[in-house]
Amino acid sequence: MKSIDTNIYDVVCVSPRNHMVFTPLLASTCVGTLEFRSVAEPIGRIQPAISHAPGSYFFLARCAALDPESHTVHCETVTDGTISASLEPWKFQVSYDKLVIALGAEASTFGINGVKEHATFLREVHHAQEIRRKLLLNLMLSDVPGISEEEKRRLLHCVVIGGGPTGVEFSGELSDFITSDVHERYTHVKEYIHVTLIEANEILSSFDVRLRQYATKQLTKSGVRLVRGVVKDVQPENIILNDGTKVPYGLLVWSTGVGPSQFTKSLELPKSPGGRIGVDEWLRVPSIQDTFAIGDCSGFLESTQKTVLPALAQVAERQGKYLARLLNQIGKAGGGYANQAKNIDLGDQFVYKHLGSMATVGRYKALVDLRQSKEAKGLSLAGFVSWFIWRSAYLTRVVSWRNRFYVAINWLTTLIFGRDISRI
Ligand SMILES: Cc1cc2nc3c(=O)[nH]c(=O)nc-3n(C[C@H](O)[C@H](O)[C@H](O)COP(=O)(O)OP(=O)(O)OC[C@H]3O[C@@H](n4cnc5c(N)ncnc54)[C@H](O)[C@@H]3O)c2cc1C
Repeated sequence: MKSIDTNIYDVVCVSPRNHMVFTPLLASTCVGTLEFRSVAEPIGRIQPAISHAPGSYFFLARCAALDPESHTVHCETVTDGTISASLEPWKFQVSYDKLVIALGAEASTFGINGVKEHATFLREVHHAQEIRRKLLLNLMLSDVPGISEEEKRRLLHCVVIGGGPTGVEFSGELSDFITSDVHERYTHVKEYIHVTLIEANEILSSFDVRLRQYATKQLTKSGVRLVRGVVKDVQPENIILNDGTKVPYGLLVWSTGVGPSQFTKSLELPKSPGGRIGVDEWLRVPSIQDTFAIGDCSGFLESTQKTVLPALAQVAERQGKYLARLLNQIGKAGGGYANQAKNIDLGDQFVYKHLGSMATVGRYKALVDLRQSKEAKGLSLAGFVSWFIWRSAYLTRVVSWRNRFYVAINWLTTLIFGRDISRI
């Protein structure tokens, strides 16, 4: 949306949220290292035309169906639970010349009973808000008179399921919060609070053995208990593992990767391996006109002989930039209207080059792997320098100067005054 030429195109964005979430820093907002607004970028700032250009709009709605023949999407407004529960969703249609599908993905639950009801995911700002409120509530509840020892331990047992980068970063943030803030401001209960990270295989499996071992050592040092296990059932206060172990919890964060959303699954479009919307080398959805798909919801079709790219922001961002350039080029060549781009030369295909992976593990330590793959040569390091690289890299990636400023100020405030522990 940022790079599309609004002299050529009117832009209409349909989305149930009016902001983009800068997810790499989302875990930091759960414990107050950063404020929520620092990681949320309003769409109107990303593409100002939607606020004032006559044909450009943002609609707070979800796309409910697609009619590629008539170049129309069917939408319905989203309402905010209790505040506007009385409002029936308003249904409307949007006609398009070009359609870009960027629906993202959904947290995978593997059909495990009780996950949706009792666990909190970490994908949206409201998830981070829910985690922060629950954590602070449990801290305060465990401090009131008459609470049994067992209940105190349960309330203050924070369990994270999934040892990928998100689960590990969240566990690291949580253990930082415990050692520097809970130990100082909730001294009555500091002996009761614990973090357990449950993973079925290895933690951080996308990193090489040396970096994985470093992360394991650091997390263990900061008090995170690493448990190898598979969750079988999630009950309101306990998790049941495959071997029958019962794990009581007060806060449960579910982070076991993502898969296509129900809506993506329901679309009658060609699919890539893994069930994402299938695209060709130019990110077009073949067999229908003027439709493109990018980001976590899309994947190369088997016929392209390319592998489906990982669900990463660095993939989504580069696909977005590539597609904006492609659409601008098509528009300039006179193919901007519906069914007008058939004979236009599209030029270079989309090529993805992995820039590397980073993950913070808490206590001013991080892993940085700037290699194309685990086997390739290049820079891979762990420790304080990596943490500094991690912070600097993400500070420069934050979309706007306004949020970059917020993030820097939040980090400084946390360093000087500690994290904010008010439950708002
Ligand atoms: C906690 C966390 C940390 C991460 N850290 C990193 C990292 O460090 N590095 C990295 O590269 N990647 C990271 N990722 C992954 C990265 O966030 C995603 O790959 C990226 O956001 C994908 O972008 P997208 O535009 O495809 O989807 P999203 O960013 O998920 O956006 C999809 C949008 O579509 C909207 N939508 C959904 N359904 C509909 C519908 N029916 N109608 C209309 N709109 C709809 C959604 O509301 C949302 O606004 C992280 C993810 C998480 C959750």
